[in-house]
Amino acid sequence: MWYSKLNNKRLWKIFSEISSIPRESGNEEGIRNYLLSWAENCRIEASSDAKGNVYMKVPGTKGLEKMPATALQAHIDMVCVKKEGSAHDFSKDPIKIVTDGVSVKAKDTSLGADDGLGVAMILDILSDPDAEHGPLEAIFTVEEETGLGGAYSIDPEKISARRLINLDSEEEGLIFIGCAGGLDIESSMKLKYEKPEGSAVKVSVSGLLGGHSGGEIHKERGNAIKLLARYLNRLPSFQIASISGGTRRNVIPSSAEAVITVSDPDAAISQAKTLQKELSAEYSVSDPGVIIEAAAADMPERVIRRKKSQKIADMLFCSPCGVRSMSTAISGIVETSDNLAIVSEENDRLCVIYSVRSSVDSRKMALAYEILTLADSFGFKAKITGEYPSWTPDPESSLAKEAAAAYKKIIGKKPVITAIHAGLECGIINSIIPGMESISIGPDLRDVHSVNETADVASAERMAEFVKKMLPMLK
Ligand SMILES: [Zn+2]
Repeated sequence: MWYSKLNNKRLWKIFSEISSIPRESGNEEGIRNYLLSWAENCRIEASSDAKGNVYMKVPGTKGLEKMPATALQAHIDMVCVKKEGSAHDFSKDPIKIVTDGVSVKAKDTSLGADDGLGVAMILDILSDPDAEHGPLEAIFTVEEETGLGGAYSIDPEKISARRLINLDSEEEGLIFIGCAGGLDIESSMKLKYEKPEGSAVKVSVSGLLGGHSGGEIHKERGNAIKLLARYLNRLPSFQIASISGGTRRNVIPSSAEAVITVSDPDAAISQAKTLQKELSAEYSVSDPGVIIEAAAADMPERVIRRKKSQKIADMLFCSPCGVRSMSTAISGIVETSDNLAIVSEENDRLCVIYSVRSSVDSRKMALAYEILTLADSFGFKAKITGEYPSWTPDPESSLAKEAAAAYKKIIGKKPVITAIHAGLECGIINSIIPGMESISIGPDLRDVHSVNETADVASAERMAEFVKKMLPMLK
């Protein structure tokens, strides 16, 4: 067994069993059946709901039966990525785990410690005859990685606990008490074309770092669409033949390009050189690879009419993008931001997609309406989609304070109570179950969602012990 030299064999054995069952998001049937039969073997009350989430309940141990119930929560799906050329089949092959005693990895694939270790920690506690705790409930959710679908479908009737410990964080020593909510804005404009005049120029922005629009929005990286619009704003007059940029809503666009027609192509090409000098200086620290280049191009068959071309460029140029405000509840955390994420042409319509995040729902809506108003004023039709609630940090949370005190006592270090500018299931669960108080914690994981995903052995064992020992200390 790969875990035979590790200390906490119970924990790793359970993780090993979980890892042997394929569990890509949307294919959770096998792991659900495993959990239900595991509970039956352990004589633990368990059930599932229509979406496929699994719930378990165990009474308090001797002397702690009357404690308020605590819910432990983790998601059972995982992100499945493999090395190029790997023959691994995520629909049927077990994850092959390797360890050097310090860290745990998978051979050629993502590991699924996100959030298989959370699941393993919960099962370890529920089945440990020596563990002491009040009444415990476990919530195992599906489809976290593809839009938090399981959390949305949680059946509140199945949960009586009003405090919840989510085990899906990736850094030991941090206790999360808040996360951002979000929404997308989809805007589009019907295009009208005409025959081109003048000369064609292709302009492209590339070489940017991009990154996650939640976790990396504060890093002052360049947004390729915004920089392209900045270039267009400098031209006295132009028409757009084509324009595109960005790939995914939650990714900062790292490249964008447009083909335009102008009357003076040499001036347009030299304008790109001027802007390149400015950008190289501006981004010398935060995004040093930035490239903007313009070159003569083949004459396109058609161009967007002059007035609409101008409106598109103006709207992109005026679009808010990046950090809007920092949290006043927790220093150093982004409160509100948006990502000018995608520009594309579909069926003679120009589409622009924004992704807005905030830990304060009213601020999220305020920024959303700002973008809707902007889009409207430039003749775009815009609407809000995919809204999910925030988890507003409460620095006075008694659960967070008790968990922090327990961590200090058990581990001997003071944890940091903080929030994250990305979505967590706690935000949704809290919005479904009134009065629920949550924290999110977890062991040190690196490079999750990639083939380099790694779990730190000592940290995982420490966190498993910490959660187990903390439970009887909660009031
Ligand atoms: Zn996760």
